[in-house]
Formats: sequence, C-alpha cells, structure tokens
Amino acid sequence: MKKRFDTYIHEVHSLSTIELLAYFLERHPGKVAFSTSMGAEDQALTHMLAGLGKSFKLFTLDTGRMFQESYELLEITRQRYQLPFEVYFPEASHVEEMVREKGINLFYDSIENRKLCCHIRKIEPLQRALQGMEIWVTGVRRDQSVTRDDIGVLEWDADLSLIKVNPLVDWKSDDVWNFIREHNVPYNTLHDKGFPSIGCLPCTRAVLPGEDIRAGRWWWENPALKECGLHLPKN
Ligand code: SF4
Repeated sequence: MKKRFDTYIHEVHSLSTIELLAYFLERHPGKVAFSTSMGAEDQALTHMLAGLGKSFKLFTLDTGRMFQESYELLEITRQRYQLPFEVYFPEASHVEEMVREKGINLFYDSIENRKLCCHIRKIEPLQRALQGMEIWVTGVRRDQSVTRDDIGVLEWDADLSLIKVNPLVDWKSDDVWNFIREHNVPYNTLHDKGFPSIGCLPCTRAVLPGEDIRAGRWWWENPALKECGLHLPKN
C-alpha cells in the first residue's frame, strides 16, 4: 500500500475534490472508509460521496458523551442519504474501568486523563472501524488549528497501514458553508448557536465572535496540544 501511496501522490495533485473521491472509490472498491464526526466539513463530504453512487464504509464514533443535537443530525443524515451508517461505540469494560478509577469527568483533571478518555472513547473504536480498510477519507482542513497546518491532501498512516485522504484540506470555512447552503445539506443546529466545532458535550463550548474556531474545544488546554489524537500528524 505504501508503494501505491507514492504513486498516487503524483497523480492526484490536479484533481478536483469530487474527482479525488471518485479516483479512490474506483481503485479501492469496498476498501474506502469515511469517518464522519457530522461536523460541517463531514456533512459536505457525505453529500459528495453519496452522490457518486459507489459503495464505501460510512461510520461515526458515538463516545457516549455527545450532544442531543448530534444524535438528531445522525438520524436526519441517515434518512436523507439512505446510506448504511455504522456507529461504533467504546468497549464498555474499558469505560467502566476508567470511570471506576478516575471518575466520570476525569478529562478536566489533567491532559493525561483527557487523552485517556479520548483514547478509550474515540481512538480504539476508530482503529477497530478502520481494520481491513485501505483508504481513510477525512474532513480535516489545514486552517482549522495550529496542529493541522502542515497536513497534505494525502498522508501515509504507518500505524494503520492505510492512505489517509483529506479532500477538503485546502477549503476555507466559507467554501464549506457555501457548499452546504447550495446543496441544502443537513447540518448540526449547534453551528447556529456559536459552536463552529462540535465534539463531546463536556469538552465543547460556544465561542465568542472573533475567537478561533477551535477555541471551544478543550478550552482549558494549550492550543498546540488540543487534538483528540484522531488527526495528529505522524512524524
Ligand atoms: S472529547 Fe472529552 S468526553 Fe469526548 S472522548 Fe475526549 S475527553 Fe472524553
């Protein structure tokens, strides 16, 4: 797969977003996975992928600590696109042990605790969901945070041995919202209430006008460390 990555990186640089998605769906039938958090970028990608009419694995992670608005959007999206939407949950025994040892709201106590919670509720289910896949499509954009400013449209994920495809890497926030309005794509109603980036309820707050778009995520931490680990750069 790494050899194919080296070939692809030369072939895809001039493709449009839709052409890029079609390119990988055609070359990796049944082996393309799209992990959606149902944020605005991911909703736009769900719309594009559904329109291509090819089979792919669509999944989301239910951490157990999500907003009710996110669950409502999950159901609206499932009905709108009529796609087999898979939902992955954390291993119950791991959550039980973590809560027994460190408490239900451990993430506020230390960065280590927060990363442990993210690992159990997000990373392990993500790794399980991606097993056997060759292509992992994500909705990350380069200007979303300081931790994402050097990501490329394609990345080799050595840990998972798959190619990570970031079709929206060069999109700006306005591009995403123009697409959503133009195509009447369903989106999380929290976006209209000051939440540009939505994660788990206890770790997400609304932002003030002029604040960074990810200022409401893990707002008590240093911005350079604010990732759950799903999209951290691999050096
Ligand atoms: S975002 Fe917060 S609640 Fe969600 S998995 Fe990470 S630490 Fe846990």
